[in-house]
Amino acid sequence: MSYVPPSNLHDGAPAAVARRLPAARVLLIALVLALAAVPLLPAFYVTLFNNIGLAALVVLGVVLLTGVAGMTSFGQAAFVGTGAYATAWIASASALPAWLAWAGGSPWFALLAGLLVTLCVAGLLGVLTLRLSGHYLPLGTIAWGIAVYYLFGTFQSLGGHNGLANLPALQLGAWTLERGEQMFYLIWLLVLASGWALHNLLDSRSGRAIRALNGGQAMAASMGVDVFRAKLAAFLLAALLASLSGWLYVYTQRFVSPTPFGVNQGIDYLFMALIGGAAQLWGAVVGAGLFILAKDWLQDWLPRIFGETGNFEAIVFGVLIILVMHRAPTGVVGWLSQRFGRGRTPARHPAPNARAAALARRPLARRPLARRPLPPRGSTVLEARGLTRRFGGLVANNDINLALHAGEILAVIGPNGAGKSTLFNQLSCCDMPSAGEVRFHGRSVAGWSARQIAAAGLARTFQHVKLLPRMSVLENVALGAHLRVRPGLARSMLRLDRLEEARLLAEARHQLERVGLGAHAHMEAGNLSLGQQRLLEIARALCADPSVLLLDEPAAGLRHAEKQALAALLGRLREEGMAVLLVEHDMDFVMGLVDRVVVVVFGEKIVEGLPAAVQSDPRVLEAYLGACA
Ligand code: ADP
Ligand code: MG
Repeated sequence: MSYVPPSNLHDGAPAAVARRLPAARVLLIALVLALAAVPLLPAFYVTLFNNIGLAALVVLGVVLLTGVAGMTSFGQAAFVGTGAYATAWIASASALPAWLAWAGGSPWFALLAGLLVTLCVAGLLGVLTLRLSGHYLPLGTIAWGIAVYYLFGTFQSLGGHNGLANLPALQLGAWTLERGEQMFYLIWLLVLASGWALHNLLDSRSGRAIRALNGGQAMAASMGVDVFRAKLAAFLLAALLASLSGWLYVYTQRFVSPTPFGVNQGIDYLFMALIGGAAQLWGAVVGAGLFILAKDWLQDWLPRIFGETGNFEAIVFGVLIILVMHRAPTGVVGWLSQRFGRGRTPARHPAPNARAAALARRPLARRPLARRPLPPRGSTVLEARGLTRRFGGLVANNDINLALHAGEILAVIGPNGAGKSTLFNQLSCCDMPSAGEVRFHGRSVAGWSARQIAAAGLARTFQHVKLLPRMSVLENVALGAHLRVRPGLARSMLRLDRLEEARLLAEARHQLERVGLGAHAHMEAGNLSLGQQRLLEIARALCADPSVLLLDEPAAGLRHAEKQALAALLGRLREEGMAVLLVEHDMDFVMGLVDRVVVVVFGEKIVEGLPAAVQSDPRVLEAYLGACA
């Protein structure tokens, strides 16, 4: 699953398209109108909708964490509990120690305390588990969920298993929000505001990094994304939303006990996201609504049907969830948008955001991004010294030495399995040499991460294309410029990043046009042909404004005219002073273009020289003929 923003910044959008009202906006208006009418309903329904809102707030976080970023947490209910108990403890001033008496009853202090405690716990859990892959996060959150449940039940100052009752109403200045319908407006205001902020986030530079976590971590790191930070950001945001829901819960219920904050409830939140559609923010509201309404309805009707009391709804829910997973794996929202929405057309053209498009035309937004100064032509930019890489008994690279200079194109050629990609991986810090070292601009890069060398000016493409197939071509390319503007999370969530975003997307569009993909900017990247996907990777690498470009088989799958255009582009980059290292099998392409050639066979460099000399070298002929024989 991958997140598809309902709208996209779109420079130069046709005005007619810009004026069309997106379906999501119509839905939003309908939702707001429907919500405004709820307090007119009997109190029972108001309570129900309050519960849906409280859950939707948590599930928004689950959608971000699980649906978008691909991480699973069973502990969201425990974060709700953290917010709720911190609030209840501070609100019931009698439980407070004397030194905190001044804060007793302050809802703002309670909110701040709840968010801070949540931040600390989630931060600790995140730091401990997010660097590890696999099951550590889910297991960590289960442990945390169980621990919190017993913790709340054990502490007598927190009311033990009976909880804390008779909590005061929420006092906001002169207003006392005593009744359900008063809380209703606050809850849904915060749901809509949080949904808006998350939508903005996902439609920004930081959001693209979070969206890349699900299936594109290695690629994102090579584009300079701090993968751990992006994971932690998603995890913390989800936890904070849960904590906010806990704060509201206390003032809605005026009572807390440990029961609603256990792992069971944590699983329910995951189910809500699954039912609604974990890949869309809308799924949070729809999932929470359907789950809570269905649960209420089933609890009412099933005992009547079966003629006895019991938790029948749990069984029916189990079956329903399996059915949803089977019939609508993208949830109700995903299913609806596939059947009736834009999702039906394979090539998606996100509806442009007219205001953003206008912003993109502002002079400030048109100012190109700052460029990195290139090193003097001829200076050594990248060096391999005695590079050796062993995989168990296999020596994939054996004592390879080579140097790449600014303003030259160097080709590494050799039969399949010779060790060319292995060499590339070490040069770009995606892999560590068993012996020898890589030097970048004269400095050893031992111990560097792919992100560090990307930040220092090395950009690469991959032999096996690595892109985010459900993201638009333009957004995929924009990932390359991740480090060139740096609006933070908060600015993105409040949509204060539009100028930076416009400049970044303008750069992405420029690089796309350079590789001849300008017309495909708003297609889903997965719908491009393989050759075009390679060109996308080159545009993405160029977006990083590198001084060194590593291309692993860039011309494979390209048509003749596309190869010629690519050769011309690489020639221009060389003129500008960039250093290009490429692996390529197409000898016509290589020989007409490059300055020098290195031949690798069975992991060893056997020849290095000018293209013509290498081509007629008997050792090379033998290696190739031998490999073909
Ligand atoms: P080339 O790019 O020249 O076709 P590679 O660098 O991909 O070759 O592979 C060189 C050799 O190293 C191959 O025999 C390949 O099977 C092996 N190899 C590459 N990566 C790994 C790995 N991660 N683990 C084990 N063997 C590997
Ligand atoms: Mg290879």
